[in-house]
Amino acid sequence: MTDFILVIDEGTTSTRAMLFQPDGTIAGTAQRPLSQHYPSPGQVEHDAAEIWDSSLAVAREMVGKAGGAKAIAAIGITNQRETVVAWDRSTGQPIGTALVWQDRRTASRCQELVAARLEPMIQQRTGLLLDPYFSATKMEWMLVNRPDVRAAGDKLAFGTVDSWLLWKLTGGTTHATDASNASRTMLMALDGNGWDRQLCEQFHIEAASLPAIVDCHGPIGETEPSLFGLAIPICGMAGDQQAATIGQGCLGAGHTKATFGTGAFVLTNSGERPLHSSNRLLSTVLCQEAGQRSYALEGSIFVAGSLMQWLRDSANLLVSAPESEALARSVPDNGGVYMVPALSGLGAPHWRPEARGLIQGISFATTRAHLVRAALEAQAHQIYDLMKAFEADGVKWERLRIDGGMVANDWLAQDLADMLDLVVERPSMLETTALGAAMLAAVGAGIHADLPAAAAAMDSDVTCFEPKMPPAERERRLAGWRDALRRV
Ligand code: ADP
Repeated sequence: MTDFILVIDEGTTSTRAMLFQPDGTIAGTAQRPLSQHYPSPGQVEHDAAEIWDSSLAVAREMVGKAGGAKAIAAIGITNQRETVVAWDRSTGQPIGTALVWQDRRTASRCQELVAARLEPMIQQRTGLLLDPYFSATKMEWMLVNRPDVRAAGDKLAFGTVDSWLLWKLTGGTTHATDASNASRTMLMALDGNGWDRQLCEQFHIEAASLPAIVDCHGPIGETEPSLFGLAIPICGMAGDQQAATIGQGCLGAGHTKATFGTGAFVLTNSGERPLHSSNRLLSTVLCQEAGQRSYALEGSIFVAGSLMQWLRDSANLLVSAPESEALARSVPDNGGVYMVPALSGLGAPHWRPEARGLIQGISFATTRAHLVRAALEAQAHQIYDLMKAFEADGVKWERLRIDGGMVANDWLAQDLADMLDLVVERPSMLETTALGAAMLAAVGAGIHADLPAAAAAMDSDVTCFEPKMPPAERERRLAGWRDALRRV
């Protein structure tokens, strides 16, 4: 049988490979941590060679588990988005480190472009805001500051992590990126074909150094036979948040998911037309199928689960992230404590990279449990602000599907339902990012006819959290949050 789907999920903190059955069941997982490099404050780098070595190692482990490459029908790739790799086409070696999406070194360059009043044009064309988060200013920075990158000339290849992995997997024969990843670079017009000439010129990037933009499913490439013993077709590719949206079955306009990992990312499927936000949300490609794009409206929050890690590793207020649930339950309320988790600035809808965090309302009655509860409550507060921004853009959430490591926390899931006054749905299969990539690969390989068929076949059970909080309590919480936010 050749029906397994192998997913490579290259995340910010770890690289994983997962083996899926066509019905969405997971048959195996392998994982390796990814080293984080922080050369100076605000700078975050990865070693692209390590990304490739780990991806190959975990993929080989899963090919072994499947009983060899012949048992694998297709590969799907999903990845941390926006992170930029530069490499030499002739050697296949990275040129310098990869600049990670979290890296803020191009903040002043972004401010310069804002001052030059370029943001409205860029937002209109790409759906993005002028923030160091996106790839274009990172590529430009590499060209300006790394002589090796400049010197590579026509041997220079740029790409996000998906295209780096695709290049390596295909033995250097395919330099391509899918439209969902391409839409995060700030170099592609949401409704345009290929790379945008004016944007490439603006950021001094030669289009020839960029990958071809392809569909999210179909015959994307084939692995170099020596890697796994036989060539395996690569049939699905999408950025992690788009993959999670697909994996959550948010395939119709209006469907919304929120992923709570290191950060929190909310995407609403906006159908076949990009929606231009007036409230500092992002418009992005959700999926491209046979050249046809669907779009999503996105709100990105930079600090979610990482706040739990900070409480655990730096503030010593938690032994483990899951302990936060029992601590939150151990007190009747937050005791007047509010936390604004702007540890690396505020993302959507505020976009204030310079903002820093705040804890407000502590008294002698404040305990560790109140502080931890305030940290968990901050998640629903942040998502509430996003919900209002989506509403102001004309997008009303009907219900919210949640996933990511943090939503194992039942207290958090209930608090979200209460504060948003919405039904919150949590699938039993929380690996929605990998599942989305598996769905794309399954459709690309012809195992399922289309994404709705894949969603139906690969579906899992859902736990519903119904809102129960009295409106007065919700108002009290929101008043406390707004007051704290004002002081940031
Ligand atoms: P990523 O994919 O961004 O690396 P994950 O989706 O694996 O993140 O989620 C891990 C994050 O979730 C960590 O930051 C961790 O602190 C947080 N987390 C894990 N379990 C819990 C829990 N029970 N309660 C609160 N936070 C949790």
